[in-house]
Parts: sequence; structure tokens; C-alpha cells
Amino acid sequence: MSIVESSSGKSPFDFALENFEIAADVLDLSEGDRVKLRSPERILIVSVPIQMDSGEVRSFTGYRVQHSTSRGPGKGGIRYHPNVTLEEVKALTMWMTWKCAVVNIPFGGAKGGITCNPKQMSQNEIERMTRRYTHAIHPIIGPDTDIPAPDVYTNSQVMAWIMDTFSMARGRLVPGVVTGKPVHIGGSLGRNEATGRGVFNTIECACPHLRMHLKGSKVVVQGFGNAGAITAQLLDSAQADVIAVSDSSGCIFTKDGLHIAKLIQFKETTGSVVGFPGSETITAEELLALDCDILVPAAMKNMIDANNASSIRAKMVAEAANGPITPEADAILEKKGVFVIPDILCNAGGVTVSYFEWVQNEQHLSWDLQEVNSRLETIMQRSFSQVLDIHLERKTSMRTAANALAIQRVCDTNRSRGLYP
Ligand code: NAD
Repeated sequence: MSIVESSSGKSPFDFALENFEIAADVLDLSEGDRVKLRSPERILIVSVPIQMDSGEVRSFTGYRVQHSTSRGPGKGGIRYHPNVTLEEVKALTMWMTWKCAVVNIPFGGAKGGITCNPKQMSQNEIERMTRRYTHAIHPIIGPDTDIPAPDVYTNSQVMAWIMDTFSMARGRLVPGVVTGKPVHIGGSLGRNEATGRGVFNTIECACPHLRMHLKGSKVVVQGFGNAGAITAQLLDSAQADVIAVSDSSGCIFTKDGLHIAKLIQFKETTGSVVGFPGSETITAEELLALDCDILVPAAMKNMIDANNASSIRAKMVAEAANGPITPEADAILEKKGVFVIPDILCNAGGVTVSYFEWVQNEQHLSWDLQEVNSRLETIMQRSFSQVLDIHLERKTSMRTAANALAIQRVCDTNRSRGLYP
């Protein structure tokens, strides 16, 4: 999953800036307010030389970028992917600033990555690369400054290596330097399910507004991975009918609803949803065009574009993935009256429980699952209702409303703090 240049030639950062200006216009922000938020506060580019298993020495390029730390330490994942570029990382940092602000957690936006192909590297090479990268960025990360997390092709093991390397440099255990760690070394219960749970919470909130009932509603989930499968499971337990799902191998459909618990087991055993007993295989185009109430894009960026947006029949689209709808498709859906729960709100459950992990680490506490889930639900419900109020009052899309709420919060902080010196 990576953000690459679009056919319009615009970079991901250009898109992030465009969305920022739209929301800034809604807020009637002054040029003085805007200028501070247009560019990242800090960009660090590092070379990461390591010895490969063959004995050859190779150097990778790594990045850590902080867009805004005015509301708190930078927060954002670390991505290992061949398509990682500075422009992509810069765009992702800005989105992280807004995502943290929309759910009102005291973090700013940051992101990092290494341009590499981890699929062609051994675990030992990935460990050496992670440790050398951590050494290179360690002056600017820390529990009070910038807290990395997993992202594309990084996981809890990578976070454990980062924590260990950082702790060795500091001479003491510093679990709060990263989130998304294994639970036995300070990870939070509920973190794995948090994104899907947050998506579910926002869908639940949207139903009364759209005069819909979850029970009996028809759901389509594109991308049956971590976020998509958990969302499907929770919707299924709320008696919605998940009629179709997909993964990178294909799409399946059954008009009476899939048995989600069995499907999860099937995917664990076979590696794909395709071939699930009782389902029929359909194309990706047919999946998007199904007659349903709720569509959950939970795969990759730009999956809903100008070519397929007009075929969508769902009343609600809940963006579990980051950036699954292109700006052109957004305009088409808005015209059709489709209610979109934007990514920075819809999938913010993950970063919210990351915040809980950091709070537990800093306080040397560990919360039980019920406490994590109930705090998450409160934050998702409150954030949804605040975004909905702006959407209704200002007559803007939910996306612009979410951006406006977030940008307003960051600007309020910047104004109160003033401009140093
Ligand atoms: P994942 O790798 O667990 O799942 C992605 C799923 O999408 C996989 O099942 C994969 O097979 C499927 N997929 C890939 N290409 C596809 C295609 N062309 N058509 C249909 N399915 C396809 O990843 P995830 O963690 O669930 O993340 C999914 C999305 O949610 C990403 O956009 C990610 O940035 C976003 N997100 C995830 C989290 C999180 O905590 N997991 C948090 C915020 C946002």
C-alpha cells in the first residue's frame, strides 16, 4: 500500500494541502494562521547502511517528519515500502496532525519510513535496518517528543526493536517511545481491534442521522484484513448482514449474508476469502456496485475513483482505509447524496488506542479490555457528533467538517501559544 503520484501529476502532499486550504476557507483562516500549518516543522532524512546477510553493505534512505507538535508529541507510523518518498511522508504527517486533533487527543502529527522492500529481506536484515534507523532518528523521537507506531509492513516486532534500541541509548527502559508493541512489553489490550472497533462506533453513530437501522442492513467490506475483518465482525454481531467482502485475491458474495466468524477462520486457514463455502465469486467492479446500505472500503488508497464512484449504491461509505476515495470520486458521491464518514474520523480508533497505550506506559498502569473499549467508544461518539454538527451547521461535506474541526483545534492552540520568539 503506498501513495503514488496521481494521474493529475499532483503529489500526495499537494492533495493534503488542497484539502487543508478548502477547510481553512470554511474557517476563514488568516494567512498568518495558514502559513504555519502548510509545511512540516521538521524533516529528518537519514541514510541507513547495513550489512546484508550476503556480506554486502547496502544503504537505505529513511525519513522522520514532524508536521506539528504544538498540541503534543508527534504521532505516526513507520512504513517500510519501495514507494516511500519524502512527499508521501510529508502528506501522511499532515493527515496525522488532523487525525489526532479531530479526536482531540494530545498529540501532533508525524510519520516516518524507509524506502526498501522488506519482502525481499530476511528478519535479521530487517532487524539491523530497524536498529540503525532508530539510532539515526533517536535524537528527535521519545515519549515526550515523537512516538512512532506500526504502519505498512512494520509490526509489533519492529516496534519492540525500536523500543529496545532507544532504551539502550537512554540506559533505561522507555516503553512510551513507541506504540503498537506486543502486550507483554507494554502494548495495550484492544490495540489490534481498535481501528475496526472505531469504524464500527462511527457507523453506529451515523445510523440514526440517516434514519437507518444496523439490524438487517446490508454491508459490503472491501479489504478483509485487520480493519475490514474486525469491522465486519462487529457489524455482524449487531445483526447487520455482511453480504460481500474482498481481499487481494478476489471478491465473494452471498445475498443472505456471510457467516463472519467462519469466514475469518477460513481466511486464516486458506490465506484468502475466495472459495468460502456457499459464496459466489464476483468482480471488484460488481462488489462496489452491489445494492447495499453500508460500504466499508478497508483496503488501500484510491480504490474508489472517477471510473467506479457513480456505480456505488450504498447510502453510507465508512472510510476504514486511509484515502480510499479520490477527490474526483468524492465530488461524485457528494452529488449522489452518499454519506461519507471521512478517514481521519472513521479510522481514528487505532491512534486513539495508541494514545491509551502511551498513557498506560507513562503511568505504569495497564487497563483491562473493557476500560479500553469503553473509553474508545466515548471518544469516537463525541468526535462523530462534533463533526456532524459542523457538517450540518456549515453545510459542508463530512470530510471538510472533520478537517475544519481538526484545523480549528490546532489553530486555537497555536494562537494561544503565540509565535516564538
Ligand atoms: P491489512 O493488510 O491487514 O488488510 C488489507 C486488506 O486489503 C488485505 O486483506 C488485503 O488482501 C486487502 N487488499 C489489498 N489489495 C486489495 C484490492 N485491490 N482489493 C481488495 N482487497 C485488497 O491492512 P489494515 O491494517 O487492515 O489496513 C487497511 C487500511 O486501513 C489501510 O488503508 C490502512 O492505512 C488503514 N488503517 C489501518 C489502521 C490499523 O490500525 N490497522 C489504522 C488506520 C488506518
